[in-house]
Amino acid sequence: MGLRYADGMADTIFTKILAGELPCHRVYEDEDVLAFLDINPLSPGHTLVIPKEPAETLDQLSDEASAAVGRVLPRIARAVLQATGATQYNVLQNNGPRAHQAVFHVHFHIIPKLEDGRGLGIDWQLGTLGDDAAELAATIAKQISLS
Ligand code: 5GP
Repeated sequence: MGLRYADGMADTIFTKILAGELPCHRVYEDEDVLAFLDINPLSPGHTLVIPKEPAETLDQLSDEASAAVGRVLPRIARAVLQATGATQYNVLQNNGPRAHQAVFHVHFHIIPKLEDGRGLGIDWQLGTLGDDAAELAATIAKQISLS
């Protein structure tokens, strides 16, 4: 791997998989993307899709690497469904330890959700939009336009 993470950031287990130093059950690879089975699947077919570009979190990923992942995600999802017989699934992407990220190399989980409940469990606590919603949206929009 010629590319390195940002200064001071250690290689991850996925760096070693990308470099061929650790094995994986590979399901897809192209110039920019690798996909392989998760070692501790939440359900059969649980697959990880990673960019080869070394970035810890999604916001640090280049547009090009992000597009390369996005281009193949639906195709890999279809293949996971066909191979497992699942018809429903979650795509999960964690950023930061509080957000359940354990491996600090961007990755997307494709997790079949089975009738017996196996798959991703979500404790989704709904809030309500506050009076500051318009201002918040405008602030985010401005940041996007500046980036
Ligand atoms: P995170 O919580 O960071 O979003 O998810 C990291 C995922 O990487 C976990 O689901 C974990 O099971 C998976 N994982 C960690 N180490 C390895 C490994 O060495 N090989 C594979 N195939 N998956 C791994």
